[in-house]
Amino acid sequence: MKLLLIQAWNAQEASLRSRFSNLISYSSLTLAAIYALIPEGMFSCIDIVDEYSQTVDYNKKHYDLVMISSDTSSIPAAYRHSRAFRKRGSYTVIGGYHATALPDEVMRHCCTVIAGPAERSVPAFLRDFAAGHPKRFYREFNVHSGDFPVPAREQITGKHKLRIPAVIANRGCINHCKYCSMPVMWHSDPRPLRDVLAEIRALKTKLLIFYDPNFFAHREYAIRLMKALIPLHLRWVGNATADFGMDEELMTLAHKSGCCGVLIGFESQNPQSLKGVAKRFSDAGRYREIVANIHRHGMAVNGCFVVGFDTDTEEQLRALPDYVDHLGLDLCRFAILTPYPGTQLWKDMERSGRIVTKDWALYNQHHVVYKPAQIAPDRLHTLYREIWKSAYGWKRIFRRVWQSPTCGKLPGLFLLGANIGFRNLGIDGKRR
Ligand code: SF4
Repeated sequence: MKLLLIQAWNAQEASLRSRFSNLISYSSLTLAAIYALIPEGMFSCIDIVDEYSQTVDYNKKHYDLVMISSDTSSIPAAYRHSRAFRKRGSYTVIGGYHATALPDEVMRHCCTVIAGPAERSVPAFLRDFAAGHPKRFYREFNVHSGDFPVPAREQITGKHKLRIPAVIANRGCINHCKYCSMPVMWHSDPRPLRDVLAEIRALKTKLLIFYDPNFFAHREYAIRLMKALIPLHLRWVGNATADFGMDEELMTLAHKSGCCGVLIGFESQNPQSLKGVAKRFSDAGRYREIVANIHRHGMAVNGCFVVGFDTDTEEQLRALPDYVDHLGLDLCRFAILTPYPGTQLWKDMERSGRIVTKDWALYNQHHVVYKPAQIAPDRLHTLYREIWKSAYGWKRIFRRVWQSPTCGKLPGLFLLGANIGFRNLGIDGKRR
């Protein structure tokens, strides 16, 4: 039997890329983890296509089974691939975020849907498939973090991506921000420390990215993990929430264990906006102090912001690039508020009739897919593009890099590269 694994990508995303995109693109672990769940010897051939950098060829060979992983914005591509392979006699499976949020819809486009985490569902499906009676639907959220396989990274192409390996210690988050898709897919359940450390040691790397959506979510676990990282002499980056910048013990230990930067979803300078989406930490008045504290500990801060909250005004959004400067951030990212199916935000907006399109390809955080409360959709889209353009002018880039605590050190080079990568994202419609 022959198997094809596909990581589907949104064609719109591809149009945003430039020759600098590999400075800000990281390898996905999804296909590598699924590959590791496949029993040895079950297939005579396993091909893997990451559409980010590879093309799906429907006629290359006949596949008995085609398994496609997809989020919401890439689901139209997943449907297209499933249709094409079914026509050629393959059995198709779709899993991932969109299949978890809207399994009934996805069911209409493939033979089997796998919702939720893959660790138990994929082996169960493969057993049934081999026995000739696969079910239409698999969903098993009751997964223990000790079940996670070591991703088969060596099977996955790293083409056009930053070659820094990634690890996940806890793929869930303890918070429930209304717009966030994480809680729909994962529970917060840190992996056994020995598994995480064994995986890191085997990578034989000195640079590491933690993909955990909230590295410090379980404070005591994070402390134990960071203490164990110290003797490995790594440099690493990870995601944090804003209150990390008020916790002296965590910041001291993070720096000591090799952390050189954190990504924080500040989301808005407006506390009302933060409260409106159930952000646990909503004291935006302390953001500047938080960034300064993290800098004092020698770490850079990548701040993320969302535009289009109900309390956002045009004036506030126009001031966002200046606000980024005021905070002293090293890097910044912006996204248009996106009500992903399955989230509380989606439910609220569906109920009040504010969703204006279900063209899922537009659900990539670069389009307005709902009726904003205070700003016309076209105007919000224009403002979004202007914010990116203004925040990534050369003057601002050089000031950010120059003022960064990483300036003059190796992480400072990555920071410059990432700033250039974001400048060239093509959000403003111009390819550079
Ligand atoms: S803190 Fe971040 S990862 Fe956690 S629920 Fe909120 S947005 Fe999602």
